[in-house]
Amino acid sequence: MASSETEAVYLHDASLRTLATEVISHQLVSALEEPEKSLYKGATDPEMSVVTMRQTVLYPQGGGQPSDTGSLAIVDEEPTFTVTTVRKAPSGRILHFGKTSTQPGSLFQEDQRVVQRVDGAKRDYHSRLHTGGHVVGLAMQLLYPEMKKVKANHFPAEACMEYEGLLYNEQKPVIQAKVDELVQQDLPVLISWVEDGSDLEGKGAMREGPVRVASIGGLDRNPCGGTHVPSTQKVGPITIRKISRQKGISRVSYDVPLEV
Ligand SMILES: [Zn+2]
Repeated sequence: MASSETEAVYLHDASLRTLATEVISHQLVSALEEPEKSLYKGATDPEMSVVTMRQTVLYPQGGGQPSDTGSLAIVDEEPTFTVTTVRKAPSGRILHFGKTSTQPGSLFQEDQRVVQRVDGAKRDYHSRLHTGGHVVGLAMQLLYPEMKKVKANHFPAEACMEYEGLLYNEQKPVIQAKVDELVQQDLPVLISWVEDGSDLEGKGAMREGPVRVASIGGLDRNPCGGTHVPSTQKVGPITIRKISRQKGISRVSYDVPLEV
């Protein structure tokens, strides 16, 4: 692993909410190089800075799942840095954008040991929304195997799965019933790593190195780098909100409760 890369601990243990690690760099947003600066459009506050660390438990926005928020603290001290958003740069650096609550401009030092904390309630909600997308996807695969998935969005209030082909309102109760059945069965969410993801071609998997695969009860296989709850019942009741169509693409909008 190159020294600037961050180990993505959330990929291996999505239940971790805190982790002690070391700072690699801490710099003002204005000091970032252009491709990294543009990763977060909201970084207009001149006091906003960016921390990179050897490891992180904070999930960076990606794969249709929103970023975590959280905090950083010097070991045995109160948190002094609020993480507003996390982004992964093409270089593998995971950038924690935020602000320090101490005097502006005071930065963590290289190799300083810090404790990361994830905002747990928000992470849980994002994990349930994301896993809910897998459940909707499996329901669709079982009901309409010929329809190709083209897009997934697991953001609050806009979560949906999109498919090539046409779905109509009459199919909404059918999808709802299948989703309810999969939640009620409490199927495990299985994560594995495969060296060769070539059979996943067409599902957006083709990339270098091992591919992380998520499966609901062994019934499907999806390349996925997101965070999940351990089983389908932990998603909570999923509501199929709406079926809509545009230019030959059908959208299945869904929601999960804020808390379960
Ligand atoms: Zn996933």
